Amino acid sequence: MEQLEVDTILEVMKTMRSSGSGGESREVSVKERKFAEHIVGVIKRIAASSKHEWIEEEELYSVEPPENIDLNVIYDALESFDYDYIRNVIDWKERNPKINFKTLQKQFPRVTNSSYIAKFRAYLERMALNREKYTAISEFVWSRYREAQDSKYPVHDEDLKRWAFEKAREVELDGFKACDVWVENFKKRNFIGVRKTTEVITYNNEHDTAETEVLAAEFLMNFKLNSRFEPSEIFNAAQTSCAYEITIEDETSDDPIGSQKTELRTYSIQLIINMDGELCNNFMIVFQQCSDEQEDLIIPPNIYITSSDNGKVDKDALKNWATICLSPNLEREACLLISPVGTQRVQNSIFSLPDKKLTIKLLPTGSAAILQPLSVLIFKQWKLFIKKFMQRVSLDQIPLKLNDKNSIIKLNFLIHNQLRAPLFKPLIRNAWAKAGFEVEKEPDISIDSILDKPDCGCQMGDCHSASFINCAHCRHHICAFHFFSTFHHH
Ligand SMILES: [Zn+2]
Ligand SMILES: [Zn+2]
Repeated sequence: MEQLEVDTILEVMKTMRSSGSGGESREVSVKERKFAEHIVGVIKRIAASSKHEWIEEEELYSVEPPENIDLNVIYDALESFDYDYIRNVIDWKERNPKINFKTLQKQFPRVTNSSYIAKFRAYLERMALNREKYTAISEFVWSRYREAQDSKYPVHDEDLKRWAFEKAREVELDGFKACDVWVENFKKRNFIGVRKTTEVITYNNEHDTAETEVLAAEFLMNFKLNSRFEPSEIFNAAQTSCAYEITIEDETSDDPIGSQKTELRTYSIQLIINMDGELCNNFMIVFQQCSDEQEDLIIPPNIYITSSDNGKVDKDALKNWATICLSPNLEREACLLISPVGTQRVQNSIFSLPDKKLTIKLLPTGSAAILQPLSVLIFKQWKLFIKKFMQRVSLDQIPLKLNDKNSIIKLNFLIHNQLRAPLFKPLIRNAWAKAGFEVEKEPDISIDSILDKPDCGCQMGDCHSASFINCAHCRHHICAFHFFSTFHHH
């Protein structure tokens, strides 16, 4: 790494420091130099990439308690006076009913206002009835937080709220709501801080970006001028890769009882959408071939399952897919937008479907990321759902097994079923609009709009869990466990 570049960053940091805090000047620490080297590395990576994205997230973490805790600073709202302190104030007041507020304040300096006395009394009355329940909630949230930290899962305010909400439902503490103040106090009491993480994702496209943009614009122009198809006859099909973890026997282990290890496996899903906002009923999942194949797969009728060496869609898979998944959606004539698949001869053999006249429009090489409706919006939403679902299952220790092929099939089936709801038609039309096709933009809708807020309860039976999803079809609120285990679909 060029010394000059690192020094430049250090110089910038020094300037910022001295302008920010009254001209402090000191030697550069080893940590700062390492940081500057890292920054230079990131800038180089961005400069060499064709596209990059920043993802900023806030997450909670445990901080060291300060040595001299000033309780007046840390606890500044009623909820954060601890029970014993409040009890002592009120007991003192009851023993000394005639003595004025100033004297009380000398005894209890944190009581800065006489209105606190009434609030403290009300609080004690509430607590007399429900103290155990409040404590149970705090303890439950704390243990969930600790377990998540131990497992290195990121935790957010929303998670604390959800855990508190769930426990309150379980202990039947009516009217309890983990509001922002509750969360802030919980964090202060337990020395939990907030840190920002920034992830930089760079994309390296071998094709020149500017050139690809020109090709994409030409494609769109040609398509507009020459297309004679109705929106319901124009389709886009594409694959995206996902990964899942499986647990397998570790044969290299020396342990006589045997041991297990986790391995990352790849699979791809191939979806079809049309320009009218419909996600087609049939789709394909291609698993990565491996020696320990699971045989007893449970396959819903609308999914075609196959496998390939690398878990990507290959020509054989595509040929079967065209007959099994694509063909049933097509009227006699249709137009399919797809990325190039091998030579003209291969393409002809894949897409020559009996009784169907299919016009293939090949997207210019390298343009999928900007020109393919599925890539610009739908796959991202699909993966966001998987991520949120997996996070919820891990964080809330939901007893669901998600590391085998059947659960991957099931989860993708459920997401597909949600996205087929009429509610999501605008999302699919917007994907076409975002890719540059002549489709009127609809009001924004995303997968987030069916994921529930932390203070919403599951409506299945007498379940105490917080809801995960507000089903796009029936609008019921359903927790992650019931959504998955009851195979909630329409
Ligand atoms: Zn439903
Ligand atoms: Zn439930």
